[in-house]
Amino acid sequence: MAVCFLLTPLEICYTVRYKINKGQNKMSGDVRKTNTFKEAVLNPDVFCVTWEQTPGKGALEAQQNEALENARKAAGSNKIHAISVTDNPSGIPSMSSEMLCAEIKRLGVEPLAHFALRDKNRNECESLLYGLAAASVSNLLVLTGDYPSNTGFKGTARPVFDLDSVNGLQLVETMNGGMEYETAGKKSVLKPTDFFAGAAISPFKQTEPELMGQYYKLKKKIEAGAKFIITQVGYDARKLHELIQWLKLNGYKTPALANIYLLPYGAARVMNANRVPGCVVTDKLLAKLDEERTVPDKGKQARLDRAARMYAIARGLGYKGVHVGGNSTTYEMIEYIIGKGEELSPKWQELTAEFDFPQKNGFYLYQKDEKTGLNSEKLAARNAKASNPPIYNFSRLAHATLFNPNSIVFKALKPLAKRIDAGPKMKSVFGTIEHFKKVVLFDCQNCGDCALFDVAFLCPMSQCPKNQRNGPCGGSYEGWCEVYPNKKCVWVEAYRRLKKYKKEDSIGEYIVPPCDWELNHTSSWLNFYLGRDHTSKRLGIKPPEKKAGRELPKTN
Ligand code: SF4
Repeated sequence: MAVCFLLTPLEICYTVRYKINKGQNKMSGDVRKTNTFKEAVLNPDVFCVTWEQTPGKGALEAQQNEALENARKAAGSNKIHAISVTDNPSGIPSMSSEMLCAEIKRLGVEPLAHFALRDKNRNECESLLYGLAAASVSNLLVLTGDYPSNTGFKGTARPVFDLDSVNGLQLVETMNGGMEYETAGKKSVLKPTDFFAGAAISPFKQTEPELMGQYYKLKKKIEAGAKFIITQVGYDARKLHELIQWLKLNGYKTPALANIYLLPYGAARVMNANRVPGCVVTDKLLAKLDEERTVPDKGKQARLDRAARMYAIARGLGYKGVHVGGNSTTYEMIEYIIGKGEELSPKWQELTAEFDFPQKNGFYLYQKDEKTGLNSEKLAARNAKASNPPIYNFSRLAHATLFNPNSIVFKALKPLAKRIDAGPKMKSVFGTIEHFKKVVLFDCQNCGDCALFDVAFLCPMSQCPKNQRNGPCGGSYEGWCEVYPNKKCVWVEAYRRLKKYKKEDSIGEYIVPPCDWELNHTSSWLNFYLGRDHTSKRLGIKPPEKKAGRELPKTN
């Protein structure tokens, strides 16, 4: 890393360009070209272990050096298949995962870069991915990311969330296929990258709408290209089993890694108070940790043994590996967990009862198997109450008539839409009236690429602080929003509305593209009628034919 500070930015660019043009990407020096993490995940005989590092704030602090030191130790062993580096966890600005991963790669162990979409728009994502590819950092965990905290420079940062994790995976998949682009009418295709990208899921959700939302979104993440899955932090064996069951019963072969967080009492209390988005520690587990910390080692051995037992259970349940983390976790602790975990694996079923930490009124996707305490293959009844606010019925009616390309109303109005669109004055007046109406009805943000269709007529731009268009983030708690804890998660409300008409599974049906900012502050109704927005394209609405010789007016 020191070398970078010596070369001026221009010299770096020249060096890289020179090397790349020679077709031999030397930016990554003589780093190993094989991806041992990918090999381990795809090798049926290997139980994969990743070790999570949280670099923290700063560039030259002890925490960054500790992460590098841990990577060096891991590089020397063949027990750890990747060092994973978090990306501003809890929304706290920290050393960039990308930079640290490039350095870790040079140390001779595979990095797994957490790639959160909270702070970067799609262009920055693409740029960073080019950099990672050139540095041979191939393993990615594509995440939505925790909301920005108020620890940024002069206050809370502006949340970006231009892409969600499903769109992020699509971007990576497109780059792996060779990104096509056009400049000055000339089409070009970039050399394919070789990313191995995964996604996260939180099966430890308490309510039916939240949990179903996680699985609908996971379905889309797998369709978008996720090659592996890592669970969020939780200690309920039945929930860990549920994910494996869901993958099996839905015919997915995507390997999954179980998250094992070495949990001291302090961190457990913070998670129990729902102050770490998506991490679940029940009162029962907290009480157990409180008891364990009364012994001289303050519960250190107990949490190591708990981690080893989770390792054995994950191995027994059919996970492809484990993702181990926790503050101040040392290499020796990881070695112990692996060793003890392997020793306990043959009797993993006897250990599951120790991980019986259900949430109060917690919903499970499958009925309980009373014999094993885990899940049967029978789906559990889904009794969550549906909701049916009048605005929802009105919206359904309006969309079935005005926004249904097969309806006579639509066909009758389309020529009028074309005429309004052709007249700048009329168009602007129309847009203002439309926006006023939609602000009153949906708190519309005038993005022009309306997603009301996709979220049961709830606006993800105003109702979801992370603008999630493809399903919930992982941060909701007992149905409440991660960011606005006194407000229900928009996807919980969407699920309940759709459930009224037995349409809740439609959340998982298709992938919603990211908002097209070209349409920002334009009439979404005209964009729909004239085939310019994502929904009209999905429904096959064609833009009006261009009259020969006359250019159609620009959208704004
Ligand atoms: S509304 Fe739901 S998806 Fe959006 S940020 Fe809140 S918890 Fe996440």
